[in-house]
Amino acid sequence: MPELPEVETVMRGLQQRLEGRTIVRATAHRPDLRWPLPEGLEQRLTGARITSFRRRAKYILMRLDSGDSVLLHLGMSGRIVLSPARPNMPTPHEHLVLETDDGWRMGFVDPRRFGSVDLVPTAQEDAHKLLAELGPEPLDGAFTPARLTAALMGKRTPIKAALLDQKVVAGLGNIYVCEALFRSRLSPLRLAYTIPGTRAARLVPAIKETLQEAIAAGGSSLRDYVQPDGELGYFQNAWKVYGREAEACERCPGRPACPGIRRVTQSARSTFYCPRSQR
Ligand SMILES: [Zn+2]
Repeated sequence: MPELPEVETVMRGLQQRLEGRTIVRATAHRPDLRWPLPEGLEQRLTGARITSFRRRAKYILMRLDSGDSVLLHLGMSGRIVLSPARPNMPTPHEHLVLETDDGWRMGFVDPRRFGSVDLVPTAQEDAHKLLAELGPEPLDGAFTPARLTAALMGKRTPIKAALLDQKVVAGLGNIYVCEALFRSRLSPLRLAYTIPGTRAARLVPAIKETLQEAIAAGGSSLRDYVQPDGELGYFQNAWKVYGREAEACERCPGRPACPGIRRVTQSARSTFYCPRSQR
């Protein structure tokens, strides 16, 4: 499942390839993904010029000169594929295709169809039902230790679960919550109400640094973003704890008190952490 850094990388790839282009043809190959596609989607996209892009949490917004924004979510298995336009060669599970005036095409491929595509007036993006309830953007200056402190006050859930709550902070998923808690040396089992204050002052920068490093690993140019098969945005990432159960912990070489990375299940999801240094 794509997480925030992957979505940011996909968005940057789209930006570099499609910004300023006009959509000469839009084709939807089915009436729905997770939800029904908006009425008249093809007609509303055709002829519009793509003016800019924005990411909010794990959503991509493609702004058009018509005053609409296309809201894209990759869901569990969604991928964006960019390629030079070619004669009717259907790609399996490609549900939406945009062709541009410079002879390129963007395909939205989603075998499991948990992704979504919607239209929202650009001036009211943040009022869309999928965005309206979201908490602060983690890389935004508005996401501060004071803001996190206020959100966690009195919460008796583990901090791991609290950080996955999109109202506390938007766009964090299982992988980067584990990584940020490792970086800040905070146990994922600790209850959220014990974080406010000095621990929040450690956690907020750890979240930002973890995400920024992952985004940097995704590259900085279109050539980095687009894989040889045209797919955007996925890259190898060196996680320090995620997926490393029983492996040696890079923070504790030679320390018998650290048995290596431990995995536990919290809210039906795997959590990975160092039981010595994360308190
Ligand atoms: Zn350790």
